[in-house]
Amino acid sequence: MTHPFLDLAPLSAARFAAIEDRVARLLGTRQDVVIMQGEALLPLEGAIRGTAGPGTTALNVITGPYGQTFGDWLRDCGATVIDLAVPFHTAVTAEQIRAAFAEHPEIDFVSLVHAEAATGNTNPVAEIGEVVREHGALFYLDAVASIGAEPVLPDAWGVDLCVIGAQKAMGGPAGVSAVSVSVRAWDRMAANPGAPRRSYLSLLDWKERWVDGGRKALLHAPAQLEMLALEACVERIEGDGLETVMNRHRTAARSTRAGAVALGGGLEPYVSDERDAAPVATTLRVPAGVVASELVSRALASDPALPLAAGGGALAKEMVRVNHYGADATAGAVRGSLAALGAALAEKGLAVNVEAALRAADEGDWR
Ligand SMILES: *Cc1c(COP(=O)(O)O)cnc(C)c1O
Repeated sequence: MTHPFLDLAPLSAARFAAIEDRVARLLGTRQDVVIMQGEALLPLEGAIRGTAGPGTTALNVITGPYGQTFGDWLRDCGATVIDLAVPFHTAVTAEQIRAAFAEHPEIDFVSLVHAEAATGNTNPVAEIGEVVREHGALFYLDAVASIGAEPVLPDAWGVDLCVIGAQKAMGGPAGVSAVSVSVRAWDRMAANPGAPRRSYLSLLDWKERWVDGGRKALLHAPAQLEMLALEACVERIEGDGLETVMNRHRTAARSTRAGAVALGGGLEPYVSDERDAAPVATTLRVPAGVVASELVSRALASDPALPLAAGGGALAKEMVRVNHYGADATAGAVRGSLAALGAALAEKGLAVNVEAALRAADEGDWR
């Protein structure tokens, strides 16, 4: 008996290339798009190791946990790293980037996370890109949590290495990812003696053996199921319309924020200024005397399918994350999350107004 997941025809090079082209269209880019056969950390690490080395001075912007990891990789490559950390409840500004260049004109690489699902903030990439371009530095962007939730425009913003994954707002698989690579970034890699070659981390291998060869032969057996899932998820986004998908996320974020404020009980938006709040996920600060991870456990006990999580690491005490992305960018998921958090706060003896929270959530533009 044939099995729907197991007995598949091999994925052809032509089909693989067509999926890359579809992802390129989603990004509105004319740069080369390489689909990497692993979770987004693969191109995130491969792109840094490919372009950074002992001659690199990197400005590493830290607005959440991923920035820390990028700094570690950059240092490991031998780069001089200037960390620019901003509090996780805010976003970095173009002015701060400009000031860093003024202080360290030798900066020739900038790493930035667009939106942070883990902390709920999003950074003004278009404005930052202008500053980076003025100084001719290479611009590396982690857009895993922003793609599908808000515009990601590598060409318009001058991003040289733009990494995406499908598992967040795209509502797709986690096991494959993509990176768009500018000509400048390819040139840096080619000139970098430390860039991975003949390695799973190597983007240059894909350049030389796949892109430059006219995309005729794959380097190794592709992650077939994940590739098909990626194709299906891009197809679904095209069918719904990218604008509609992004609007759904924006609405989910606004509704969650407004609903949490209306709920009361001491729950507050974690990201202070709504302008800095990411459409992909909304983070909330719990009142004193409440432990966020316990509150989330109580809320999930009523409905384990709700997209609720406590913050990671030290944030587990103070932060609740509402991961209203992908299939959870819906009025139902937002309403359910607010109601369950309200009930959990009420159990702790805090005064909440669940009806007002649900009303606030319903006022969103849920098309
Ligand atoms: C989710 C995410 C990734 C991918 O990491 P996972 O641990 O696989 O979820 C990378 N960067 C950012 C900013 C993310 O939000």
